[in-house]
Amino acid sequence: MDAITHKDSPEPAREPGHDASRELAQALARRLRELRATRGWSLQQAADACGVSKAMLGQIERAESSPTVALLWRIAGGFGCPLSELLPALAPAGAAALPEVRSAARMRARPASDAMLVSPLFRFDPGLGFELLELTLLPGYQRLSEPHARGVVEHVLVLHGRLELLCEGVWRELGEGEGLRLAGDREHGYRNPGEQPVVLLDLIHYPRTRDASPAG
Ligand code: MN
Repeated sequence: MDAITHKDSPEPAREPGHDASRELAQALARRLRELRATRGWSLQQAADACGVSKAMLGQIERAESSPTVALLWRIAGGFGCPLSELLPALAPAGAAALPEVRSAARMRARPASDAMLVSPLFRFDPGLGFELLELTLLPGYQRLSEPHARGVVEHVLVLHGRLELLCEGVWRELGEGEGLRLAGDREHGYRNPGEQPVVLLDLIHYPRTRDASPAG
C-alpha cells in the first residue's frame, strides 16, 4: 500500500470539503428531526407546513440530499423558526464564564448546495428577537427570496464587494459600508454580478408573535 504523504494542506476557507459538508448535512438532519419531534408532526404534516414534498424532506432528514438556501428558508418558515435555529451549532455551547468571541471566519460554512456561505454570528435570541448572519455570495449568485413570516425586517450591510439588492421591486446597488433596511415579508432578492465574493451582514428581526407560516 502506498505510504500516506504528510503535507500541510490548509483547509480551503471558502469551499468546505466533503467531510465538512457531510457533517453539516447530518447535523441539519438531526436538527430537523428534533424540530419535527418537538412539534409532534408527521413527515407529511411537516412537508405540508413547509410547502415541500414529503420525499424531499425525508431525504434531508436522512442526510441524503443537500438543500438549497432557498429551501432552508422555506423549511424555517414552515417551522416558524429563524434560519439560525435550523442551522446546526458548529461548536457545542459550553458553560463559559466569559462571553464567547464569535469569529465569522471560523463559523462560515456552506449549509446548502448553492453559492452562498452562511456564518450564524449571533443566533436567534427570542428575548431580543433577532439573529445576525454574515452571508457570502459567491460570484454570479442570485436569489429571489420568498417572503419570510409577517413582520420580519432585514437590515443588510455590505462589508466587501458590490451587492445588488431587490427591494420594493427595484434592484439597488450597495457598495462597501452601505446598508438598507427592507421588509422581509415582501418579495426581495440578492445578487452578486461581480467576479469577487460579496460579504454582507444581515440582521434579521422577527416580531415577537411569529406566524407559524410565512406570510403570503
Ligand atoms: Mn431574506
